Amino acid sequence: MTIWNFGSINADCVYAVPHAPAPGETIAARALTHGLGGKGANQSVAAARAGATVHHIGGVGPDGQWAVDRLAAAGVNTAHVHPGDMPTGHAIITVADDGENTIVIFAGANAATSPARIAEALSGAAPDDLLLLQNETTCQVEAARIADEKGLRVVYSAAPFDAEAVRAVMPYVYLLVMNEGEAAALTAALGRDLADLDVPAILVTRGADGADWITPGTGERVSVPAPRVTPVDTTGAGDTFTGYLAAGLDTGHPPGEAMALAAAAAALQVQRPGAADAIPSRDEVDASRT
Ligand code: ADP
Repeated sequence: MTIWNFGSINADCVYAVPHAPAPGETIAARALTHGLGGKGANQSVAAARAGATVHHIGGVGPDGQWAVDRLAAAGVNTAHVHPGDMPTGHAIITVADDGENTIVIFAGANAATSPARIAEALSGAAPDDLLLLQNETTCQVEAARIADEKGLRVVYSAAPFDAEAVRAVMPYVYLLVMNEGEAAALTAALGRDLADLDVPAILVTRGADGADWITPGTGERVSVPAPRVTPVDTTGAGDTFTGYLAAGLDTGHPPGEAMALAAAAAALQVQRPGAADAIPSRDEVDASRT
C-alpha cells in the first residue's frame, strides 16, 4: 500500500540558544544550521525511512530544488511536488540547552497547492492507501474529502493547532494525531472530552511520557512509554512518531505495535540535532529495540 502525504516543505533555520527568547528579549545564538523541515516533509521522510512507499504532494519555490532532492534521497516519491513562483516555506527555530524549541513558520509555496492538483495526484491512489495531512498547508479539507471519497484512511496531525481547521477536517478523518497541548486546546474549543469526539481513533503524544491511542467508540486506550533518553533537539519528534506510526499501520501492524516502533524512532530522533535530517533509518530503529 502507499502513503500519500499532502504536506509542507520548509527550509529550517535553526539557532542554538541558551534559552528561548522572552518577549522583548534579544539573545545571541551560538550556532546557526540549515536543514530540511516542515511537518509534511518530516513525516514523509519518517514514513519512507520506516520502509513505506511514500508519495509527497506539495510545493516549493524557485529556490527549493535542494529540498526536493533531500526528499528523494530519503526515498520519497516527489513527482507531485510542484515548483512554483512563491518562495519555499521556511521556519525560524530556536533550540534551547534543554532541547525545547520555539518555531515561527512562513508558509510560502506550502500555500500554493490547489485542490485540482491534489485530486490529480490522488487519482493514482487505491482504497486502503493512507493520506497524511497537517495544518501547515491550505486545502486540507478538500484533500481529506477527496481521499475519503476514494476510500483512503486519513491520518491528520492537528498541528499547528487551529480549531476551525480541525472542525472542518474531522468528518473525513480516520486517525486524529495531536500532542498534549493540541489535545487540550481541542477539548477546550469543542467543550468535549477526547473520548466523546466523533472520529474512529485519536493518537495523543505526550513527549517523554510516551503516547496514547484512544478509540472513542469503545473507550479503549492503548498506551506506550517513550524510551528514556536525553534529548538534544525535539524539533520534529511528533512528525517522526507520526510518519513511523503511519508506516506501521500501513503494513498492518496493530496500533500498539506501530506505536512502539514510532516511539523507538522518535527517541532516536530527539537525540540528534535537526528535523528531517535527524530521522533514523529502519535499521537503526530495529537495532535500538533489540
Ligand atoms: P510534538 O513534537 O508534536 O510536540 P511530543 O513532544 O509529544 O510531540 O513528542 C512526540 C513523541 O516523540 C513522543 O510521543 C515520544 O515518543 C517522542 N519524544 C518526545 N520527546 C521525548 C523525550 N524527551 N524522550 C523520549 N521520547 C520523546
